[in-house]
Amino acid sequence: DVADLPGVPDWLPDHLRDDGIEELYPPQAEAVDAGVTQGQNIVAAIPTASGKTLVAELAMLSAVARGGKALYIVPLRALASEKQAEFEQFEQYGLDVGVSTGNYESDGGWLGDKDIVVATSEKVDSLVRNDAPWLEELTCVVSDEVHLVDDSQRGPTLEVTLAKLRRLNPDLQTVALSATIGNADELATWLDAELVDSDWRPIELQKGVHYGQALHLEDGSQRRLAVQNNEKPTAAVVRDTLQDDYDEDGDLVEEGGSSLVFVNSRRNAEAAAGRLGSTVHPHLTSEEEAELADVAAEIRDVSDTETSDDLAEAVEQGAAFHHAGLARGHRELVEDAFRDRLVKVVCATPTLAAGVNTPSRRVVVRDWRRYDGTAGGMQPLSVLEVHQMMGRAGRPGLDPYGEAVLVANSHDELDELFERYVWADPEPVRSKLAAEPAMRTHVLATVASGFARSRSGLLEFLEETLYASQTDETGRLERVVDDMLTYLERNGFLEIDGGELDATSLGHTVSSLYLDPMSAAEIIDGLRDWQRSAAESTTADAAEGGFTTASELADGQAAAGEADPDDISALGLYHLVSRTPDMYQLYLRSGDREEYEMELYEREDELLGPTPSEFEDERFEDWLSALKTARLLEDWADEVEEDTITERYGVGPGDIRGKVETAEWLLGAAESLASEIDTDAARAVSEARIRVEHGVREELVDLAGVRGVGRKRARRLFEAGIGDRAELRDAAKPVVLAALRGRRKTAENVLENAGHRDPSMDGIEPDPDVDVLDED
Ligand code: ADP
Repeated sequence: DVADLPGVPDWLPDHLRDDGIEELYPPQAEAVDAGVTQGQNIVAAIPTASGKTLVAELAMLSAVARGGKALYIVPLRALASEKQAEFEQFEQYGLDVGVSTGNYESDGGWLGDKDIVVATSEKVDSLVRNDAPWLEELTCVVSDEVHLVDDSQRGPTLEVTLAKLRRLNPDLQTVALSATIGNADELATWLDAELVDSDWRPIELQKGVHYGQALHLEDGSQRRLAVQNNEKPTAAVVRDTLQDDYDEDGDLVEEGGSSLVFVNSRRNAEAAAGRLGSTVHPHLTSEEEAELADVAAEIRDVSDTETSDDLAEAVEQGAAFHHAGLARGHRELVEDAFRDRLVKVVCATPTLAAGVNTPSRRVVVRDWRRYDGTAGGMQPLSVLEVHQMMGRAGRPGLDPYGEAVLVANSHDELDELFERYVWADPEPVRSKLAAEPAMRTHVLATVASGFARSRSGLLEFLEETLYASQTDETGRLERVVDDMLTYLERNGFLEIDGGELDATSLGHTVSSLYLDPMSAAEIIDGLRDWQRSAAESTTADAAEGGFTTASELADGQAAAGEADPDDISALGLYHLVSRTPDMYQLYLRSGDREEYEMELYEREDELLGPTPSEFEDERFEDWLSALKTARLLEDWADEVEEDTITERYGVGPGDIRGKVETAEWLLGAAESLASEIDTDAARAVSEARIRVEHGVREELVDLAGVRGVGRKRARRLFEAGIGDRAELRDAAKPVVLAALRGRRKTAENVLENAGHRDPSMDGIEPDPDVDVLDED
């Protein structure tokens, strides 16, 4: 009973009852018995949608009630705002909730006043590197989806961050929430925690496989589906789910429900949503159609792109797609419409399974293989991932039970899928810390932020990681660490003196910029290379100059040896940051290789550093992919329309934003490095960064920096003869108003942000002589 919880604030029981929670679910009760409200470390491995969030809340609220401060680590940036909104309901009781997103350089000082802070593990890691003082005041940390320590990209950061936080405060309560996994006990050992390991679910789940005309379920039963001519299996399942179920007497047993279909790529999600729309549409009432039309209109309002159109069209039919390439506004509209049971089917990539709370009657895992570039070709999904997707089936209180099926195309596949996924247990979680990029980054950060000052201290710190607790190969950790130390010393990031370790000034910069040291090394090499060749060419110019007078000679000498920053093209810089391991490059599709080889041939002079030879297969391929990525950034900074870019590079609008944000961050870092290593490139780098940030050509950099202006309005103002911020302040109001297409509110805003003393547009009419560009 929620009235009997030790250690929680007095208001909590009533609050929970108001939410319809009278009693704890069994795994939650187990966590309380194990001491989650009394500062005890807990690892809770429980199935999707079985109430993990409340376990976290119990821990955090009781920690705050004892005068402490809690941190909630989310696995995805997209989840940070969702969790923040969830915890903000406690602000009515005087708690203060903050979310830490944004760039990696600040120490987030203002977070020191918050009771609960939400952040990604990368953000927390960067706060540790920047010595955020309030981290030492933390008394409780919750790590959501902790099984992701197994992720080779992001797992090591989570693992090392938890170890660092625990070292900063040895009394820190650690609560780790995990999906059901094979070795939760190992996580508990690592974190000195009590283990709650449960497979209890609030709603029954039947797993199975669709084959032929039936769902084959794990209890041995079969459900026949009426398959219409030539219907694909997924469509048959979706249609069957939509239909109301009646018993022999004609009484309604089960109302029609919604389906969630998991596929392996964004493109497939979009295509499947388009197709399934025609399955759903005949089942919609006219009322639903009208409401869906409203949602579609809102979707078109979010952005004016092809993806937006495709999504709106699918939604009009009662279907939708959902993937990480969608704009945030789109994602939220889809999730809401699905929860409101308006949209009847959502086709998603597996990111949706990772935490967004969107249960549905049935789940179809249509694709169980996914393209994996590093492994080469199609690879099967893990049992853990498939079970997490399947766990989204069944809405407590709405459905009698949930069903989740894979799709088989042959009898053999039916058997295989039962063996591989339905009957299988999830894999054990293994640390990926020993992977090279992770070690490189974390060894440097651990030394730079003072967690270790010697080789033995470093090894001792690493002993506190999951990796150390899992490896039984003696000496392996030492060998990996020694390799990394050598690499870091060779690149000038660390000094090693006997057993003592010290980060150089450059090493500190790299660590606090949150760069992979290899990215930093690539950028530094590129900038130095440019400096050398640019300086050589000015020296050569001076030598050829044939100076006659003493003063001409002196000028020439002064110029010799200095590099002219105007010699760096934006493309060169975009390419430089695109080839670092911190940029997720666009890959080459068939036909791209030739196109970008041509491009390379034409623009090789602009790139920084020597092109790898074509015989170095992988490096050459990488160089071309970086060129493709750099071309996208260049197009964006040349004011090419968003729609043209999405089509030209085969990406979604969300991808453009992603690349732009990464480029902004890396160019900001490159700017710091350019000054640190004393090159003349900093100004050019800064300009390239501002251009990509706002998506504008050089002449608009100043205007686009005015809040509320942006790339399109900047262009219109410029066409009307307004060149920069100062000119905007002094411009005739009728001209400004005309350039902003008569939008008074916008014009007033923009003028105010430009520093105008009297931005009011009352009584002003747009100047009829200003030619307004009409596309928006
Ligand atoms: P998870 O994080 O494990 O995927 P959630 O914490 O989102 O799952 O919980 C799923 C749903 O169950 C939420 O809507 C939540 O309000 C509800 N819930 C959690 N605990 C209880 C409880 N003890 N009684 C009733 N409903 C609960």
